Amino acid sequence: MVIGTGSIYDMNSLNIKKDCKLTVISGISIDSYVENQSKIIDAEKIVVIGSGPIGVEVLGALVGKYPDKKFATISLHDKYLHRACPAAHEFIIKHFEKLNVDIHLNTKVKEIGKTIKTSKNDIEADLVVACIGFQPNSKLIKIPGVLDEQGYVKVNKFLQVEGYENIFAIGDVSNINEEKLAQNSEKHAGIVLQNISKVITGEKLIEYITASRPMVR
Ligand SMILES: Cc1cc2nc3c(=O)[nH]c(=O)nc-3n(C[C@H](O)[C@H](O)[C@H](O)COP(=O)(O)OP(=O)(O)OC[C@H]3O[C@@H](n4cnc5c(N)ncnc54)[C@H](O)[C@@H]3O)c2cc1C
Repeated sequence: MVIGTGSIYDMNSLNIKKDCKLTVISGISIDSYVENQSKIIDAEKIVVIGSGPIGVEVLGALVGKYPDKKFATISLHDKYLHRACPAAHEFIIKHFEKLNVDIHLNTKVKEIGKTIKTSKNDIEADLVVACIGFQPNSKLIKIPGVLDEQGYVKVNKFLQVEGYENIFAIGDVSNINEEKLAQNSEKHAGIVLQNISKVITGEKLIEYITASRPMVR
């Protein structure tokens, strides 16, 4: 078996009120963008929550496509792409400032109702895109002892689920310590494909070696 159930966003962490009138899109869900396409087009003000690679990419794409709309960004972190070099943050913040994006870093979203309530002030929006960080999509996995504290599937260097020769885990759901990227998932898949045959034939398995890969190639 190969587990590759990917990741999700924990939308509950945003505390979206039942009577919330704003449209809130999960930035990770293609379906959500498609379903809400007309609302994206109609929105006068769009707020993107999150300053990681997905938040930056989504905001950049929306500002580029809809230069006449108002945009804001909110993030708990004090830097864009906080895992990257400081120059990346400087470049991005200058870019968004030039495009008149209303920037709220170091700010926690507390609740989404009529407005977005944050640790600092209330922010108006018509539509919100949540890009709030991957969580492993592993709730369905009931094999005892295979999930780490954060819910990622623990794998060894051959991408076998810890304690199981015949179960592998790949992609975002695995606990490999690297940026969660489609490119990495693709590499895992290539290794696992070979390792499945090797388990059957009893040959030496191939090790997965992590490498730093740029987001877009
Ligand atoms: C907006 C955005 C931009 C991105 N840009 C890049 C980029 O430029 N470059 C890059 O390398 N990466 C990028 N990524 C990251 C990349 O999308 C993920 O790392 C990649 O999709 C992970 O692959 P995966 O196969 O682990 O999981 P996923 O692609 O999430 O696939 C998981 C699969 O499991 C299925 N599944 C889940 N639960 C169940 C279930 N219970 N039953 C049956 N099926 C189930 C799902 O239907 C899905 O098909 C981006 C992500 C986002 C959100």
